[in-house]
Amino acid sequence: MTPTNILNADLHCHSVVSDGTLTPEALAERAKTNGVELWALTDHDEIGGQQRAAAAARAQGLRYLTGAEISVTFAGETVHIVGLGFDADDAALQQGLRQTRGGREQRAMEMAEGLAKVGIKGAFEGARKFVGNPELMSRTHFARFLVESGVCSETHEVFRKYLTEGKPGYVEHRWASLHDAVTWITQAQGVAVIAHPGRYKFTPNEEYALFTEFKAHGGQAVEVVTGSHTAQEYVKYAETAKEFGLAASRGSDFHSPDESRIDLGTLPFLPGDLTPVWDLLADRIQ
Ligand code: AMP
Ligand code: MN
Ligand code: MN
Ligand code: MN
Repeated sequence: MTPTNILNADLHCHSVVSDGTLTPEALAERAKTNGVELWALTDHDEIGGQQRAAAAARAQGLRYLTGAEISVTFAGETVHIVGLGFDADDAALQQGLRQTRGGREQRAMEMAEGLAKVGIKGAFEGARKFVGNPELMSRTHFARFLVESGVCSETHEVFRKYLTEGKPGYVEHRWASLHDAVTWITQAQGVAVIAHPGRYKFTPNEEYALFTEFKAHGGQAVEVVTGSHTAQEYVKYAETAKEFGLAASRGSDFHSPDESRIDLGTLPFLPGDLTPVWDLLADRIQ
């Protein structure tokens, strides 16, 4: 029998419904072309693209899991929790996501004010042109505007110079609590996954607290092989998954053919000694 780890699953990516540049249909087609066997669309704080993604997956003959990436504030930092395989019609999940999206427009106006102070005018309207979903203005849309207007040559540079902590366009924001995000997902029959743990600027103690509390709230998995991790981080978080008894997930975090380093379905397979998250979700695959 082929071990279930040897599966081209891509369970993390973004469409125009959040801060990606492709439609759910174009992503499904690209996933299929790249050999993806199990796919999930995980837009930020939003499940408005789920029906389209599931239908497009079906049309391509791709297996599909519902998905979302929820913004959480933990120990003063933003942490992302991916939900997989939930019931997208669940009312409490929908309400929780609506509430999490709620502060984004105000935040975007404050970001634009910060940028105006350093001479970058019209950033709110400029970013808005790149937005596919008016409820989901993100830093990525500002980054695209600053590239378009020639302030920076690529989006990573915009983040480094303007959109991260301490920089003119950065606005402190309070997202959902870890408890609430995990509960919304699990009560809707999904599995909660810590997204790209290697990206957070936590001390070892804070990271330990994140994993411990996540597990106590009912979280069951962690991204090990992700477009945000180095090869050393695959090894490190494979160990963490085993230490905490968590299943492992795999996803590119693909946003755009022009911006993303890692394409859909192109990462290495999960290490063989981990439990893949899809083993927990066999009855949720569409
Ligand atoms: P937001 O939810 O509005 O804070 O935006 C977060 C998004 O910004 C992430 O999901 C990434 O798509 C993008 N992002 C964050 N940091 C960077 C970076 N250094 N370079 C490029 N994109 C980034
Ligand atoms: Mn994003
Ligand atoms: Mn993320
Ligand atoms: Mn993401």
